[in-house]
Amino acid sequence: MSDFVLKQKNGVWYGVFPRLEALNIVHAFTCRMHGQSEIVPGGLNMALHVGDKTDKVLANRQKVAEALNFNLNKATTCAQVHGNHIVSVTEKNMGSGATDFSDTIGNTDGLITNMKQVPLMLFYADCVPVILVDVKGDSIAIVHAGWRGSITNIAAKAVDIMISKYKASAENIVAAIGPSIGACCYEVDETVWNAAPKYHDCFIPTTKGHWHFNLWQVNRKQLEENGVLPDNIVCAEVCTFDNKDLFFSYRAENGKTGRLAAIVYKK
Ligand SMILES: [Zn+2]
Repeated sequence: MSDFVLKQKNGVWYGVFPRLEALNIVHAFTCRMHGQSEIVPGGLNMALHVGDKTDKVLANRQKVAEALNFNLNKATTCAQVHGNHIVSVTEKNMGSGATDFSDTIGNTDGLITNMKQVPLMLFYADCVPVILVDVKGDSIAIVHAGWRGSITNIAAKAVDIMISKYKASAENIVAAIGPSIGACCYEVDETVWNAAPKYHDCFIPTTKGHWHFNLWQVNRKQLEENGVLPDNIVCAEVCTFDNKDLFFSYRAENGKTGRLAAIVYKK
């Protein structure tokens, strides 16, 4: 687990990749403790769309913003729909969804920017967060990859945009796969198997018509296929289902839970 470590600042607990910290990339995968959520009492729910009171969620976000030293009004979010659409964040849409769900960027599961001090913030409870950084250039990206986003290559799509629009080279991109449901706990049925013929090597058969699906392996595979170097892909290998005392897990809590945030910005 040395690729990924937990930290605490001002009472906010979050995970980081030392590899990204060494590159001066501010980032965090927030934990669930010490917040003001009402749906998960005392939890650090970061999402506005899951039934918590807005002021409680904003208090949680502000606490995280202070711990990570960013301006909450510049944090940019999107309404995630398990698709693979990625939006570029510019002066024009910066801060969307920071304090009000009504102006969040719609129908989007990935954000990318070359702006400094503009945090990209997505929400998770088991789905896979992937942060991408061009270590020689300006662009950073973050995607929300559940099984649908993963098998439709959202992480690889972000790499393509970093290359085509932001002039990155694949060999200069570092990718970090955050806490999310591990193959150990992620059983799927034929719906997923049949939808993912390209990734059948990432399934482990269990009972008839059921498999454990390794989303970390799916994302790693497609990043490598798009030119990201194996040594430049780090994975937390932390299963949210197994660590529901630390992280929100949609599956472990039968859908009644909050959302952790994955956040990244360049100083
Ligand atoms: Zn697990």
